[in-house]
Amino acid sequence: GGLNITYKILYNDAVAMTGGQPIDGPLSPRMVVDQVLAEGVKRVVVVSDDPEQFAAAPFPPGVAVRPRDELEAVQRELREESGVTVLLYVQTCAAEKRRRRKRGAYPDLPKRAFINELVCEGCGDCGVKSNCVSVLPLETEFGRKRLIDQSSCNKDYSCVKGFCPSFVTVEGGKLRKPSGAGAVAFPALPEPAHPSTQRPFNIMITGIGGTGVVTIGALLGMAAHLQGKGVSVLDMTGLAQKNGAVLCHVRIADRPEDIHATRIAAGDADAVIACDVLVAVSDEALAKMQLGITRAAVNASAVMPASFTGLADLQFPVDAMEREIIDAVGRENVAFVDATRLATSLLGDSIATNPFMLGYAYQKGMVPLSEEALMRAIELNGAAIDMNKKSFHWGRWAAAEIAKVESFARPREAPADSQRLSTSLEEVISRRVAYLTDYQNAAYARRYSALVERVRGAERAVARGTALSDAVARHYFKLLAIKDEYEVARLFTDGEFERRVAAVFEGDYQLHFHLAPPFWVKPDPLTGEIKKREYGPWMKSAFKLLARMKGLRGTALDLFGRSAERKLERRLLAEYEATIEHLLQRVTADNLPLAVEIAALPEQIRGYGHVKDFHVRAAKQREQELLARFDAPAVKATTLAGSEE
Ligand code: SF4
Repeated sequence: GGLNITYKILYNDAVAMTGGQPIDGPLSPRMVVDQVLAEGVKRVVVVSDDPEQFAAAPFPPGVAVRPRDELEAVQRELREESGVTVLLYVQTCAAEKRRRRKRGAYPDLPKRAFINELVCEGCGDCGVKSNCVSVLPLETEFGRKRLIDQSSCNKDYSCVKGFCPSFVTVEGGKLRKPSGAGAVAFPALPEPAHPSTQRPFNIMITGIGGTGVVTIGALLGMAAHLQGKGVSVLDMTGLAQKNGAVLCHVRIADRPEDIHATRIAAGDADAVIACDVLVAVSDEALAKMQLGITRAAVNASAVMPASFTGLADLQFPVDAMEREIIDAVGRENVAFVDATRLATSLLGDSIATNPFMLGYAYQKGMVPLSEEALMRAIELNGAAIDMNKKSFHWGRWAAAEIAKVESFARPREAPADSQRLSTSLEEVISRRVAYLTDYQNAAYARRYSALVERVRGAERAVARGTALSDAVARHYFKLLAIKDEYEVARLFTDGEFERRVAAVFEGDYQLHFHLAPPFWVKPDPLTGEIKKREYGPWMKSAFKLLARMKGLRGTALDLFGRSAERKLERRLLAEYEATIEHLLQRVTADNLPLAVEIAALPEQIRGYGHVKDFHVRAAKQREQELLARFDAPAVKATTLAGSEE
């Protein structure tokens, strides 16, 4: 009596943290429900991404089945219910679904999520909603945006719920074939010198759980065994098997009795195959390296850790990481290669990265085994044999002739212009003038360039650099080019977006849009958030019409302009112009850094609707603090004796 508790049970069709092992023995959602009811649970609600699956064999009376979209509502209902309640969430693990789809053991919907990077604001809400590591950062001229890694996407689609109009789902068609997946005549490469295994040769592999790093250790182990050598393989996985750091210790010796410990001692790694550079610079991994002993082959691709889903601004300082490894082993003993990018573009799947690294390390003479034994080990491993072999050969080739391999990996299409970063302030400004002219008209662009020119003049008078001008050029633009209905429509119909989609997909596909148009959608009564709805391909025609109506923007006929969001954006723009005027009156060489920080604050204002509101509040608070410091009378430095310097 008196207890009020809800148990949440996840039924995801696999044993947690095992890489998808099936549940041992029969256990169905129905059995879980029957059991908890028999134990006296007052109310059970089943929530599922596929409620239809229970239509043929319903649960006992009183047990409701609700769709996944209602999870939040169900949790709130059960929270209010006294006594013991159970929420049984039934959904097969998304990573497991992907594995099964690859084996043809799970239906594969011809539907993929795709982001229009120009519409994207880089707010990170899609990462928060999905907690998915396939949502990647994309650095563009207009800031950091998001990109879906199609090769690792689990087709869970929860990223699409990110509150913005940037997502389309591409239905039908298929991903274009990668350039290196077909028949390629690999050249006969010179055989590298193989290290001796007279005494144990120690290889440390660093990687991310769930990407097949443990498999590389297993392949080395099997190949060594096939060659009649002694070998030990020790996998050190962190708590989170998927997306967590993995260090794999492989020791190979001519005679098994020479291997006394399975763990590589500090400073004792002869070779490091760094499939992930971030793990390679962990204290534990660096401790195994030693100048004069260790050689390293390092994947220098910036692969964001899982925490990026919640930290939109997380940086990945590859250069600093490379320096740490160089410091540890010496410049001449390390080779870097952009393996994730190359393997993904050559073989169409980022999972090809680790065998690519194995081939790369092999050709660099860091693997004391024969290619024949490694190929046989790949065959015995039995999974993705063709891709793993090809990937190994591409890795070997990359170690010998990187320029050749790069030429195969070059994307069919030139990257979008927005992915080309400006190299001078003049370029930053001129590109934005052109953008704003397309956005509205030449007069609108002149409003932009006039203020930017004034800032340039004022900055020249007090300092040598262009930090303030650059901040205003970028962030004033952002407030001018707000993505209202006309602009979103323009960015979906100006031809560039369709070109981007066509570079990734081929065949007969249709685009579906996910939008929350004002006036039509109402906030969720429980959470207060607006939910997007899906619109079919006809929306493109509506967008075309809307894009042509951009001349109405800001006029009395601008229906959309009356929404609270548009009013807020106009206010932010006016306030920014006033703030910049204020800064120009008082800027000096001393307070210039503060002025730059204030001018760059719109960078923090990202997203749409409630996401944007949240960021506006934070940015405005920060602005107040910075302005107070900017306006405070300058404090002169005093000496210890108290006299002014
Ligand atoms: S606007 Fe935000 S939610 Fe939408 S795609 Fe970009 S980062 Fe994700």
